[in-house]
Amino acid sequence: MNSVDFLSTNKDITYEIRTEIKRLGRPTPDLIISKTDVGKSRNYSRNFNSSVYDRFKWLCGCPKINKLFCYICLMMGGNQSAWTQEGCVGKGRRHKATA
Ligand SMILES: [Zn+2]
Repeated sequence: MNSVDFLSTNKDITYEIRTEIKRLGRPTPDLIISKTDVGKSRNYSRNFNSSVYDRFKWLCGCPKINKLFCYICLMMGGNQSAWTQEGCVGKGRRHKATA
């Protein structure tokens, strides 16, 4: 119920469900994301590290599509951005905290 899937597809969430979702907390699954940075002498590949959830308290993930979302925006149904729609794969695209 507190999955990214559920939150992004259900726009009219009742107060009861919202309360239950808050109790469950944000989903912080291990994702399979690897990103390749182009370096001067070689390329560096970075794999997903679940410690990002500790660093960014608003972050949540969807294991189905292996992407990161902003839990706050999903909950609030706020601004339509990559953080609530298609998801993000790294810190390349910084999320502006407007919530
Ligand atoms: Zn947000």
